[in-house]
Amino acid sequence: MKKIGRLEKPDNFGSAHMFSNPILERISRTHISIPITMFLVMALISFYIAYTETSTFIGTGILLLIAGFIFFTFVEYFMHKYFFHMEPNTPIKDKVQYSIHGVHHDYPKDKDRLAMPPFVSAAYAAILYLIFKLIMGDLAYYFLPGFLIGYASYLGVHYIVHAFPPPKNFFKTLWVNHAIHHYKDPDSAFGVSTPLWDIILGTMPKKD
Ligand SMILES: [Zn+2]
Ligand SMILES: [Zn+2]
Repeated sequence: MKKIGRLEKPDNFGSAHMFSNPILERISRTHISIPITMFLVMALISFYIAYTETSTFIGTGILLLIAGFIFFTFVEYFMHKYFFHMEPNTPIKDKVQYSIHGVHHDYPKDKDRLAMPPFVSAAYAAILYLIFKLIMGDLAYYFLPGFLIGYASYLGVHYIVHAFPPPKNFFKTLWVNHAIHHYKDPDSAFGVSTPLWDIILGTMPKKD
């Protein structure tokens, strides 16, 4: 089991003081509704452009949107497993890993640190737009909203599983899997919005 935080035990109620500079400390905190709204608005704009300005058939567009969504769930899994939980072999990597994810494992219920600062999210969205546009041209206007809706739902699900008690329906597995990732086995259950890739790639929590 990889230990990626600093604390021996996660602090369920505390919050890390990450920067001595008060401005940086403030910027490191984001209310979850801000990036979610940003991504959904960007998705809507992109969809509008796709529908009004491109000649792509709407049926193809919807399939591209779904593909973008599924692609996001894979990126989410991949980033969480290989980047957020990388083995830090230099002090810089260690600091980066702690800032982006270790701190969340130390303070899992600190609700202001469940998303990146808005300007970082905006920069990511802009870079993704450029990459998708380069690869698939006008089709990107349908693919990007799928990806961004995936991102927004990941942020929403992650917030909800930390902020609210589990429901009594089949969505409960999302709570159970993420609790196992935090409190029992950080080498399993990397998918937050869906266990799909954990099932396909064999990282579902063991039954016992
Ligand atoms: Zn979490
Ligand atoms: Zn993690």
